Amino acid sequence: MTSRTTDSASGGTPAADRSAEPAAGAPRHGGAEPAPGAVLDPALAARLKRGADGLFPAIAQQYDTGEVLMLGWMDDEALHRTLTTGRCTYWSRSRQEYWVKGDTSGHVQHVKSVALDCDGDTVLVRVDQVGAACHTGDRTCFDADVLPLGR
Ligand SMILES: [Zn+2]
Repeated sequence: MTSRTTDSASGGTPAADRSAEPAAGAPRHGGAEPAPGAVLDPALAARLKRGADGLFPAIAQQYDTGEVLMLGWMDDEALHRTLTTGRCTYWSRSRQEYWVKGDTSGHVQHVKSVALDCDGDTVLVRVDQVGAACHTGDRTCFDADVLPLGR
């Protein structure tokens, strides 16, 4: 029933002729079955396109003003935490650890919504940013270095 447009599903043969298919009414996605390690929803994970390092970019945007605040990196676990904790959580490539934005600086990002882009390789997190998004103290990471347009 989902309208996913996975046109690149490679070679997977749908399990068409399963005689042991449960009759209609049998719960397919039964009640609570917490995945080991509390991982990202597999249906969502299947739609993500990650880099070779397993990461994908996440853009943080102020939800009401539209300011583009910063770009960070996530893996599946970081996205899962972002979706479920209300706090934007990234993977720090320099420290090689999860990083809950604001834990040390106080510049918390409260998650308002999360969207996946059209081809599944970038996440947009709309947040309510407390204070500065940039570690330099600027409101956004893009305030300080506006490049000249050559024309
Ligand atoms: Zn910055």
